[in-house]
Amino acid sequence: MQKPNTVKGTKDLFGQDAKDHENIKKIFSEICEFMNYENISTPILEHSSTFTKTLGVSSDIISKEMYNFVDQGNDHLVLRPEGTASVARAIITNSIQDNQNQRYYYHGPMFRREKPQSGRLRQFHQVGLETFGVRDFHFDVETILIAEKFLNLLNIRNKVKLEINTLGNIESRKNYLDELVKFLKKNKSSLSEESKKRLEVNPLRILDSKDFSDKAIVSEAPKILNYLDEESLKFFENFTYYLDELKIDFEINPLMVRGLDYYNHTTFEYVTFEDKSQNTVLAGGRYDGLLKSLGGNELSGVGWAAGIERILLNKKRNNNRKKLICCFSTTQSLNSELFKILKELIISENFNCSLIFSGNLKKKLNKANKLQSFGCIILGEEEYKEGNVIWKNLKTGIQESFSISNINNFILKKLENKD
Ligand code: ATP
Ligand code: MG
Repeated sequence: MQKPNTVKGTKDLFGQDAKDHENIKKIFSEICEFMNYENISTPILEHSSTFTKTLGVSSDIISKEMYNFVDQGNDHLVLRPEGTASVARAIITNSIQDNQNQRYYYHGPMFRREKPQSGRLRQFHQVGLETFGVRDFHFDVETILIAEKFLNLLNIRNKVKLEINTLGNIESRKNYLDELVKFLKKNKSSLSEESKKRLEVNPLRILDSKDFSDKAIVSEAPKILNYLDEESLKFFENFTYYLDELKIDFEINPLMVRGLDYYNHTTFEYVTFEDKSQNTVLAGGRYDGLLKSLGGNELSGVGWAAGIERILLNKKRNNNRKKLICCFSTTQSLNSELFKILKELIISENFNCSLIFSGNLKKKLNKANKLQSFGCIILGEEEYKEGNVIWKNLKTGIQESFSISNINNFILKKLENKD
């Protein structure tokens, strides 16, 4: 019979991959908690409208990537493609728009029907954060600072560069769009087929086209920075001034437009130095109209999300496994006592523990060796009568017995002594 497969573009996570995912989430959560962000976990299933109302009909996600379906109760549902609109929906749904602290972080799977390739999956995993409140550039700086800390702790900050841009406020963006469309229409005949279509539905996206002839035209196109009104310019200047003060390296990329309609003012991406379409590791920006478009208050927001799979593509794999200690008894009849010992073991950050049940003593020792165990706790009849167990170092073969009542201290000492 043929082996059953996962759905195209989705993967089972196990072994080192599963550990790496957990580790990234842990590092991310620790930084966010430290900065007083609250964890939020929204459902994977959402009403389609949460995204159709916010992301923009011409965005890649809405126009071709979203997994939507009608369920048996005739509800139009989707597997969430991203986190920002969900978090915004959640704070409206739960009437917590007026809470004092509006800083949230999340992690979990997202779904987009894209062409699967390295770093581009149909079910992928993100960590992300959002802040809501007044429109204040300090929040933009705060989210960048957290991104810097996160990428530094992951040891990949030197693999990526920070690119920033501004889309200005809604008026500035509109003025700019008018000029841009005029310019692009003049050059329409030289644009790629895809961009000709985009000219009608989402002209901004032509700026980040990868097509060679599009790029040539775009390099001559008007730049948003020249169309910012006073408020938008001041906002951007404040933001970049702080980045300079913090000695955070960045480049202004006037062609960086984020794919979703809800962005304005700041946009940013941490991208690798490779020239491929999956080179964005972490991306975000400011979205001032998002909550309102879902029926919420006029709150501003800024946040970012990073793809765990893309982080892992750039991260040296950490094979520092925890030490393993195998526990077994010399005879079957002592197995119940073995469980009692395990009950006394305090869960430790420093080692993992694996029970072995079947086989004779030789087989059990063999198994412990194959598992590359650091040492074994062996429960033997004679020792047990005296309230003791055996410790066996598998490298040196040296055995010693110790009191069961002292098991936690004894093991910690063994781990510290590195023997
Ligand atoms: P891209 O330009 O690569 O399609 P995007 O702009 O659609 O990215 P965002 O919506 O900003 O991506 O998502 C934030 C991050 O999530 C991306 O920077 C990336 O790291 C990750 N990501 C997005 N789509 C995928 C995917 N299909 N597979 C894996 N990771 C993804
Ligand atoms: Mg995309």
